[in-house]
Amino acid sequence: MEKEVVIGQKTKSKKSMLKNFYPNYVFEKVENIPYELISKEGIKLILMDMDNTIIDSKGKYSKDIKKWIKFMKSKNIKLYIVSNSFSQKVVKRIAKELGVRYFYKASKPSTKAFKKVCLEFPDISKDEILMIGDQLFTDIWGGNRFNIKTILVKRINKKEIFVSRLKRPIEKIILNHYYKKEEKLSKCKV
Ligand SMILES: [Mg+2]
Repeated sequence: MEKEVVIGQKTKSKKSMLKNFYPNYVFEKVENIPYELISKEGIKLILMDMDNTIIDSKGKYSKDIKKWIKFMKSKNIKLYIVSNSFSQKVVKRIAKELGVRYFYKASKPSTKAFKKVCLEFPDISKDEILMIGDQLFTDIWGGNRFNIKTILVKRINKKEIFVSRLKRPIEKIILNHYYKKEEKLSKCKV
């Protein structure tokens, strides 16, 4: 198993355009994100991408993800699926099974979905919101544009739709920059 990489705070350098795509943290998978980190960051609402973040290409999620979500809920953390998927049927089914709310056709990196979800939680401020996803150009960029915290996870499946596959080599270049900038240089194949 590949070593898990935990990256520290976002770089403060304003010189790099690439920082728009830098996540706050990188984890191997969602269920490895510890509650201690969520608590330390003061997170009250977790927005999760769906495809390749919590489900695989067959629409299946692991028992561990289900457990992780249940645990976070027991700690009074709100969870929400924010997916770019056009299939309401699929997103609705997954959200229902996992007991979370959902937003489909989110058009990330547009921030419109984030804005709408925020309206449902008037007592939660932006610095108490976390976006988790597997793609820099949708999940992480979108989260950064909306000024919320972000965690990048490794995609569940290697098999992806064509558009996503095209973006991966560029993501790799940006991530390499990101890792190089971090003091605790770690290597992770994402
Ligand atoms: Mg995804």
